[in-house]
Amino acid sequence: MIELRDMIAAKQITATEATQAYLDRIEKYDGQIHAYREVYTDRALERAAAVDRGEVTGPLAGVPIAIKDNLCTSWGHTTCSSKMLEDFQAPYTATAVQRLEDAGAVILGKTNLDEFAMGSSTENSAFVTTRNPWDTSCVPGGSSGGSAAAAGASLCAASIGSDTGGSIRQPAALCGVVGFKPTYGRISRWGLVAFASSLDQIGPFTKTVADAALLYEIMAGRDPLDSTSADVSVEPTQTETQPDQPLRIGLAKQYLNDNNTPAVADAVERALAIYRELGAEIVEVDLPHTEYGIPTYYIVATAEASSNLARYDGVHYGHRTDAPVTDMPDLYSTSRAEGFGDEVKRRIMLGTYVLSSGYYDAYYLRALKVRRLIKQDFDNAFEKCDAILCPTTTAPAFEVGAKSDDPLAMYLNDVYTVNCNLAGIAGISIPAGITDDTPRPLPIGLQLLGNAFDEARLMRIASQLENKLQAPRLTELQPA
Ligand code: GLN
Repeated sequence: MIELRDMIAAKQITATEATQAYLDRIEKYDGQIHAYREVYTDRALERAAAVDRGEVTGPLAGVPIAIKDNLCTSWGHTTCSSKMLEDFQAPYTATAVQRLEDAGAVILGKTNLDEFAMGSSTENSAFVTTRNPWDTSCVPGGSSGGSAAAAGASLCAASIGSDTGGSIRQPAALCGVVGFKPTYGRISRWGLVAFASSLDQIGPFTKTVADAALLYEIMAGRDPLDSTSADVSVEPTQTETQPDQPLRIGLAKQYLNDNNTPAVADAVERALAIYRELGAEIVEVDLPHTEYGIPTYYIVATAEASSNLARYDGVHYGHRTDAPVTDMPDLYSTSRAEGFGDEVKRRIMLGTYVLSSGYYDAYYLRALKVRRLIKQDFDNAFEKCDAILCPTTTAPAFEVGAKSDDPLAMYLNDVYTVNCNLAGIAGISIPAGITDDTPRPLPIGLQLLGNAFDEARLMRIASQLENKLQAPRLTELQPA
């Protein structure tokens, strides 16, 4: 992405040519990948022309970018891949998207997701299942599967997603791209359709760590429109600079177990060898509450979702039933029954249950206490190390349909990603190699977790590993 940006700046290629090239690729390949929900051909070409005329400048001038369809834009639709918002046109643009446009980016379109960002495979989209560009019989991961697939398949120079429990890092790992979730509060959530407000965070998908760092720096920083956005200065990342020595890489036994497939376990070993070679000290850290992450997350996230999604009542927002109704409650329940998909309904019911009187203390309150313990685990760990190395997922991408009837199996996809959100810290997934034992090679991701607001260091540490790993990126798509 940075290379393309520099070529446009040096006038070796025009922004219009770059944008047209991506639009052509979308035309050619998206029929099999289904990464996009909507493509803004005319608007993108107009923006590119404005860059070429010198009217739009900035650190992303002319760079074509895709955004997840749960980020509001004052043009086009913002559907969250839900029937509930199928026709919704947002009256304003999300701060993160606005900052990208202000930096000169060309927004190509909106990408597919699991409905309201609830899922790990993009199969929960009400409209279409996105396919993994490495093997279209497999899922791209989720919930930002469209953004991950678009970045992996070079249907954009980079893309943006949201991560509540892993929705950037898990699909990044499965699609062979870099996916970065900054610290909670780093990037404004204004205009991001809320799923679980104490966990949601926006971040980029890119081919390289340096690209992710640039997009992050452009989007990050205090926004008066989001009271949870942090007033902490954004340190420039400088991925080309070596991290401070001696570097201490944390390793937690809780993330290294028999659930990891051999290819994933090998990737961790390779990364450790690289860090040792680079002179890093490998320190064992203990994260004893790790195993409670999934139940805690699925209580906190569903509780917040049940409250956030109450606004879709068919009156103020969203789908309204055409069926005859008897009264207001009937209008609400019929509209909601028609507008929401199964997984969203499951989450609303779970969340309502854990918040209901008599169960609140036993579930929701207890989950909040465990969340604090998980945060303390990380606080203790970061006293001993600069970043924690672990897998992003236990295994590479699975086949479409393999887990769609088993919510628990699906929830376990997030076993290595949710605790980062519960603790509010930063996490990045980088491509770590490809498997050689599947019919087609599939990418593997490695995750590095960094302390809150320590993104610049985390990115330098990730960039060092990336340089040595030289993991392949998808260069050409497989024929259908
Ligand atoms: N897969 C997780 C879930 O289904 C995480 C989703 C997300 O990060 N948006 O909730």
